[in-house]
Amino acid sequence: MEQVKVLLDLQEIMTRRCAIEEEKRKVPLDVADLKGLFEEREAAFLAAGQEFESLRQQRRDREREIEEERDLVEKAKAKLMGIKTNKEYYAMLKEIEQTKKVNTEREEVLLALMARFEEAEKRLADLKAEFEEVEGRYRTQMVDIDARMATFDKEIAAVDAERRRIGASLEAGLLRRFEQIFDRREGLAIASAHNCSCSGCHMNLSPQLYNMLQRGDKLYSCPNCNRLLYFSEEADGAEAG
Ligand SMILES: [Zn+2]
Repeated sequence: MEQVKVLLDLQEIMTRRCAIEEEKRKVPLDVADLKGLFEEREAAFLAAGQEFESLRQQRRDREREIEEERDLVEKAKAKLMGIKTNKEYYAMLKEIEQTKKVNTEREEVLLALMARFEEAEKRLADLKAEFEEVEGRYRTQMVDIDARMATFDKEIAAVDAERRRIGASLEAGLLRRFEQIFDRREGLAIASAHNCSCSGCHMNLSPQLYNMLQRGDKLYSCPNCNRLLYFSEEADGAEAG
């Protein structure tokens, strides 16, 4: 029966499509570990960058404060020259000393901050290098993966064209039914019948149905799994013999 041959060809091409899709699905898995590492390194690098920026800002603020206080001291010193009374003079001198003392404390804070800043700068450089190394490998692999995916897409497009060509010779209702069974029955929509049973689900077929299948003038479905059936003399003979 010509129809059976067409359906078997269609099943073969649809099975090939599934296999290609399966291979395509596996492709991104190859890069999954590297992607995880890339994201980890990227997050560490970005966090270090934020810490570095925050310390740089704090350092600028402290430096500006110290600079402003130094200006105040200089201005106070200049004023000192114009002061007439001893009392005022010593009061001003005391103020200057106080400001200097506060500034000394600020400078100590700044020194500690600069030490942290330098550490952060070094850490940032290290993390940047680590990140860039992984990034380079990741990008290369992604290019490779894109190329492999594109190859699979091309194969799928070719298979689809072939599938359409084969399907075009079938009646639309039968094609739709065939595709539904293919999806629901693990990619086996048409199964051979031999030794009086369905090779799809291995259930026994009634002798009446088996006789009709042997006649081969019409398509029948398995009453159990709903797959389309065809009589296979080869399989029948092989197993019987
Ligand atoms: Zn069956």
